[in-house]
Amino acid sequence: MIATVSRDTDGADFGAVSEKRKLVLATFDLCAVCGSPFGAELRWQVAFNESHVRAKTPVFSEAPVHEICGLYAAQVCPFVGSPYARFGDQQRKGLRRPEVVVLAGYRRTSDVRGFESGLQRGTAVLHFEMNDLAATHVLRTRDEAEQAYAHALECEPTLQIDPEERTLTDLVSRWEDEEDRGGVLAGAAWMIGAAFCPGIDKVQGMKFYVEEPFYHRCAVSVLGEPRFAEDMADSPDEATRAAMNWLNTRVHLPAELERWRRRGRNRIRSIRSGSTSNGNRSPSEQKKSKRKAQNASRRKNR
Ligand SMILES: [Zn+2]
Repeated sequence: MIATVSRDTDGADFGAVSEKRKLVLATFDLCAVCGSPFGAELRWQVAFNESHVRAKTPVFSEAPVHEICGLYAAQVCPFVGSPYARFGDQQRKGLRRPEVVVLAGYRRTSDVRGFESGLQRGTAVLHFEMNDLAATHVLRTRDEAEQAYAHALECEPTLQIDPEERTLTDLVSRWEDEEDRGGVLAGAAWMIGAAFCPGIDKVQGMKFYVEEPFYHRCAVSVLGEPRFAEDMADSPDEATRAAMNWLNTRVHLPAELERWRRRGRNRIRSIRSGSTSNGNRSPSEQKKSKRKAQNASRRKNR
């Protein structure tokens, strides 16, 4: 998808998906093609068989898109539109794309987390679990794809975008930035809650944020100190400023970000209560919990 593709000075590197960019899209709940928010629209995923999209909790390794954007991609993308296109990467080389493209529109993204990709062993990528399937397009030929796109264009809903969302969308879709390899907003996303996405520390491309304590400290402060995000809204860094202004002006946060932040709060709370209650416990209780922790780590190390 266009917005998830890593970019460099030569333009888009189609076929290479940036995990940083996927994290940004998940955090701010933006479409992977146009980089705009979803609002009340369905979130669409592309698949090559109907049973996958109709599974109880289907999981995809790409961020969802708008209907119009998915249909646009279906008719112009060489991997999607042509029955003879072959996948470019090593794992899928030589595999012919199946005969059908299924676009599935879901009401919600129910989970985003990092775990090992089925295609590349040993590499964790972000996965999107979708829920409440509401509509599908089953496309067998390029003609069908073109017709579906033309029809969707006619009834395309107008997108309501506020100024803070517009700033994010512009940053996500910026092409000329030399630094932009999918990551202009990833650090800022990390700070406003993506740090607490399950499995994020194992996802490829995230090492920098995992190893740089600044990002984690900011993430904890944004959650715990009400003034912190307001102060950061004046940051000299464009991406940080955009993310904080967006965060500070939301009435509701995207469900996924809300879940990550709840997880972050619970973790901070349990760390804090763990360190204070430790002092109040009797020596035998402390011994018991120490033994428990040792046993747990022994089990993990096996
Ligand atoms: Zn879109």
